Amino acid sequence: MSSKCGKCEDTLDRRKSSSVTCSGFCNNSFHANCCGISNDSLPCLKSPGFCWYCAECFKMKNKYELYMKNSFDEKLLKMISGFESMFSDLKQKILATAKDTFSEMSVANKDVSSKALKEKNSYANIVSSKSMIVVKPKNTGQTNAETKSDIVTNVSAAQLNLKVSKVKQIKDGGILISCDGSEGANNFKKVASEKLSAKYDISDVNMLLASKAF
Ligand SMILES: [Zn+2]
Ligand SMILES: [Zn+2]
Repeated sequence: MSSKCGKCEDTLDRRKSSSVTCSGFCNNSFHANCCGISNDSLPCLKSPGFCWYCAECFKMKNKYELYMKNSFDEKLLKMISGFESMFSDLKQKILATAKDTFSEMSVANKDVSSKALKEKNSYANIVSSKSMIVVKPKNTGQTNAETKSDIVTNVSAAQLNLKVSKVKQIKDGGILISCDGSEGANNFKKVASEKLSAKYDISDVNMLLASKAF
């Protein structure tokens, strides 16, 4: 089979070992000499799987590859920016949801803490509206009657605005005085401490309760 060389256009026998065929689009064959191919490199060019391109096809191939690469890069960039905007939307949505959740949580927290505060206040009111004072003799052998007599003699409930609701005898000769309101109790404590502290320990049960409760 004979044809013309793609370069010099002289006759060429494709079967001859000195000819090369382009693997590109032109489908031309060439004299190896016309394409600057040495006889030494010919066997390598003709080995199976090896693709040789004429100068024109080589240029075209490079352009095509460059085009493919650019269009791929372009597509990749579009894809990346698409992902970026998708992630940014997603981020906004997550942040908005988180914000809503946090504000709901803080409203719930406020409800809980205001409720707790109310309960605490009401408990504190109950505690402060009822005061209990313990008068305990330092001499533990003393009777409750003696303690009571000392209190009555030295401390006037009426003068102190003390509203006694209950008087109870406790162990070791002690007296527990329950009263309404903290003012009278504080007055009583003050006067009792002044007049009776040599013989008695005077303590406020309220304070003990309060410190245990909170
Ligand atoms: Zn030629
Ligand atoms: Zn070609």
